[in-house]
This record gives sequence, C-alpha cells and structure tokens, in this order.
Amino acid sequence: MSDPLEQFLIEYVDAVGGLADAVEPQVYDVLMPDAATPQRIALDPDALPEHPSAQLLTFGSALLDDLLERAQTRGQIGLAFLDDAHLHPHALAQRVTRDVVLPEQITLRVENTRPLYVTHSLFWFEVTYLGDEKEQALYPLAIDRYYGRQVRYLDELLSGERLADTRRWTFADASTVPLDQAYLAARDAVVRTVRAEVNTRQHHAKTRLVAQTERMKKYYADLRAELAERIEKAQARSDEVASLRLRQDALNREEGVRLDELTRNAQLRIQLKLINLLHIKIPRLFIRTHVTAKPRSVPTIHPASLTLTWDPLIEKTDALVCPHCQLPTFELHVNRQGVLHCTGCNPGEVG
Ligand SMILES: [Zn+2]
Repeated sequence: MSDPLEQFLIEYVDAVGGLADAVEPQVYDVLMPDAATPQRIALDPDALPEHPSAQLLTFGSALLDDLLERAQTRGQIGLAFLDDAHLHPHALAQRVTRDVVLPEQITLRVENTRPLYVTHSLFWFEVTYLGDEKEQALYPLAIDRYYGRQVRYLDELLSGERLADTRRWTFADASTVPLDQAYLAARDAVVRTVRAEVNTRQHHAKTRLVAQTERMKKYYADLRAELAERIEKAQARSDEVASLRLRQDALNREEGVRLDELTRNAQLRIQLKLINLLHIKIPRLFIRTHVTAKPRSVPTIHPASLTLTWDPLIEKTDALVCPHCQLPTFELHVNRQGVLHCTGCNPGEVG
C-alpha cells in the first residue's frame, strides 16, 4: 500500500476499533464503532461517478481534517514500552565503576543488580509565533522521570518500530518524580530553546520596524510638504484655505495611527501549548553498592551505600546523584568527616 492516506485510513480505523472493508481498489466501506451504518470512502476521484454516495478522502478534504483531529485527540496521552535492549552486559560492575571517578580512600562493593522500568515522559510542545505573520513549530522534549533530567537520546527511537504496547518483562517500576514537576522541567527547557529563536526574530522585527518607520515618515513628510505648497499658493491667490488646513490635521492624525499600527505589528507574541504526552517505560539496571573506608584513611563513610544506574538502551552509566547537593556528577570526593560529595560542593570543609 503506497498511498499514505490509504494507510492512515486503515490504521486509524483499526486503532479505534472500527472496520474497513475494501470494495474495490481505493474504495472502502468504513464502519466506525460509534456509527450505525458504514460510510463509503473513496481515495480516487475517478471512482466517484460509480459510487455517488462515497466521500472523497484527499489532502485538504473536510473528511481528512475530521479524521486527523479525532486521531490527535485520541493520542494526547499515550503509554509505550521500549524494552528490547540487551539486559545482561558483560562485566557490568567493572564498566560502571570505571565510568565514575571515586576517591581512593573508599571501596565499593556491588550488593545487587536489578532491572527496573524507568518512565520517560515525552512532551510535545507547539510554539506559535504571532508577529506580522503566524508561524508554528513543534518541540519534543523527553524527561527521565527517575532522575528528573532531560534526555536527548529518545528522538531517534521515536519512529515507532521499537515501541511496544505491552511490557515484555515483569520488572517493577522505578520511583518517579511527580508529573507536574517533570512538566515544569520540560517547559523550562523548551522556553530556553525558544528564547534564542525569539531573540533572532525580535532582532529582525526591530530592524524591519526601523526601516518601515523611516519610509512611512518620509511618505507623510512628502504629503505635508505638498500640502504646505498648495496652502501657500492658495494664500497667494487669496483663496479659501480652511479645507486644506483640515486635510493637514487629518494627515497628522493618520500618520500617528499608522505608526502605532507598525509598532504593534512588530511586537512578537509567543504561545506555548502542550499538545501530546507519551510515557515510555524503558528498563534500566540499578546497581546497589556498599561503600566502606579503606583502613587508616577516613572515619565512617556517609552515605554507606550508593546506587549507580546503567542504561542498556544507550549502554552508558548515568551520572550519579551527589549524596550531598543532589546534582548529577561523575566524580565523587570524600572530606575529612567521611562525607561523599561532588566537585561542586564541599560539605564540612568550611571554617
Ligand atoms: Zn555535590
């Protein structure tokens, strides 16, 4: 089936639980679950004379708009699994401990490794730029809900081929940061991306406004000069000039209105709207470790255990959460009191 519209029709009808029966090539009888009678739909205009009751499904048709709108409403929130990655990497403990830099005073012992499903929430934001014209752009953004961090590796996996409706494994779900918190993180990230675009657009709009304002002022200055000349000539002939003076006032008012209008049109307004949300559950390996101090180095280590995670999808160790400041890091240090911390924070060393 090469016709994308035909494919969309079949897949849509199937997804909503309806039936599509091919009457002949490019002509279908479609029965939607909420309809009492089937509807004949033709994808080929040449088939219409033979099927006068058929509705034509083509780009720009009201029928297609209706189907697309219904399809989009249905898909606003979805759930999928991406769990076909290899979950038993060779020498995992060594790989993980090599990826993070640990202070030499400590020893890390792996206690257990278990896979858990980590929810990733993918937000699709629609951004509308309203200036002298309207433009729209779509920004997808994924948040790892275990760490609450933005991830960038999902974009290329969204073609859908690896996504499944049901889970393959019985692993439990990892804890998640609340959805509203994830939404705010996603929105902040989109706003940062959009801000650069807005700055560029505003710069162009300002440059354009300066040029347009100059042109318009020159236009009205010319009109005024012409009028002044006519008034002068009329006065020389002792003609009546009251109507010309009224015209002068009207010109000044008109110029003011049109300059205001230019400035108003040059102002860029931005609307941000969340249009779709997809939760994707992906297994991750959680490696629980016990941390001890080497003899004659530091007192007891805090915390006594660290959980490292390894992402089988991208085959990488995740940045761990600094036990002291909670920021992501790949490097830990230990201070004189035995507290583990990252390079950015240094508990207990002050004073
Ligand atoms: Zn820290």
